[in-house]
Amino acid sequence: MLRFAPSPTGDMHIGNLRVAIFNYIVSKQRNENLIIRIEDTDKERNIEGKDKEILDILNLFGIEYSQVMYQSENVRFHTAMALQLLVEMKAFNCFCSTEWLDKKRDEAKESKTAYRYDDACASLPHELVIDNENPFTVRIRKPLEAIVVKDHIKGEIKFDPNDIDSFIIMRQDKTPMYNFACAVDDMLSDISLVIRGEDHVSNTPKQILIREALGYTKNIEYAHLPIILNDNGKKMSKRDDASSVKWLLEEGYLPSAIANYLILIGNKPPKEIFDIKEAIEWFSLENISKSPARFDINMLKHVNKEHLKMLDAKELSRYVGFADTEIGELAKIYLEEISTTKELKSKIQLIFSKKEIPEELKESADIMVKTIKSAPYFDEYDDFKNYIMKESGLKGKNFFRPLRLLLTGSEHGPDIALVYKYIKNYIGEIVK
Ligand code: GLU
Repeated sequence: MLRFAPSPTGDMHIGNLRVAIFNYIVSKQRNENLIIRIEDTDKERNIEGKDKEILDILNLFGIEYSQVMYQSENVRFHTAMALQLLVEMKAFNCFCSTEWLDKKRDEAKESKTAYRYDDACASLPHELVIDNENPFTVRIRKPLEAIVVKDHIKGEIKFDPNDIDSFIIMRQDKTPMYNFACAVDDMLSDISLVIRGEDHVSNTPKQILIREALGYTKNIEYAHLPIILNDNGKKMSKRDDASSVKWLLEEGYLPSAIANYLILIGNKPPKEIFDIKEAIEWFSLENISKSPARFDINMLKHVNKEHLKMLDAKELSRYVGFADTEIGELAKIYLEEISTTKELKSKIQLIFSKKEIPEELKESADIMVKTIKSAPYFDEYDDFKNYIMKESGLKGKNFFRPLRLLLTGSEHGPDIALVYKYIKNYIGEIVK
């Protein structure tokens, strides 16, 4: 069983979508189920509706899963397991106040040493625990030996016992901390491989420690994906618009192209343009680069353009607000100069909008509008052109400039004869 475990705390980040796509691909390759676990135990950070938005995005990208579960529904298991660890003395109650711990943390910062909990409550006598009315957290005992993580991408990572302190697994309000809930849920769902972002690498030994303490012996495989960098070489964050999947979709990038791009970067695929289904045939986590991938919007544009070219005309026309093969063919002509459905839509809208005519062409344009409106239907551009030229008496620039403007809304663009082929049935709506 594989899992994708998003937190419903904001817009879906492309890094998360990449994690979801890789999980999906590998689940198909291994013929195992993929579950979606909404990690909603941090009530303060949850944003209502984000879970639904995440699931909608997964559906849009064709990511199939067998089940959706909410981590908050498992809290009774988290509590039971924490109790088990307390009974077995593998965890202990910690009465240190938040202020006290903050003070210790500040001191560590000042002396430039990494903060580690000092185990002040690790061996309190039982009677002190029983009679203590102060609020407490539950901490798991720190490891005595090194923990080694064998990562499919990063190779072997060894964590010294001193890297990990006796960390909190249950908060004072008795809700589980992220690492605890995650480790227990992966165990309960019988997860075989965890694919997630590398920001979680330091959590992995903690999660292994938790499961070992609970007596779980199954080895869970790991693959931590390198981060995605922006143009400035910094981690793509909320400040980078392109980090949001929703933004990319609104900007007119196709789901198939975004997925293609996210599989392409930092990887060695056998080809540049493909869909997820094809990637299932050759994808390998071992080919993913250890170093961060760099986000390049121009490359995404190129990939998007190639995916737009692959759409059939009718489908393409839907992206620009029609359901018509001719408009789809018309849109295809513009694919040479544009690369998103948003740009394409505005091109097509321009063709159907009331045109802005520069002052010096107004007179000729007025004559031309009248002539076109009273002209019969012509199947061939040349016949149309010759008729309008003859009837309007316009010539040269005074003919061709207003003609292109009236038909396309722009002074430059593709061969007008080609455009005519697809707009000839709409001349009445276009020239007004
Ligand atoms: N909920 C975590 C996140 O969104 C992922 C946890 C995990 O994959 O283990 O970053």
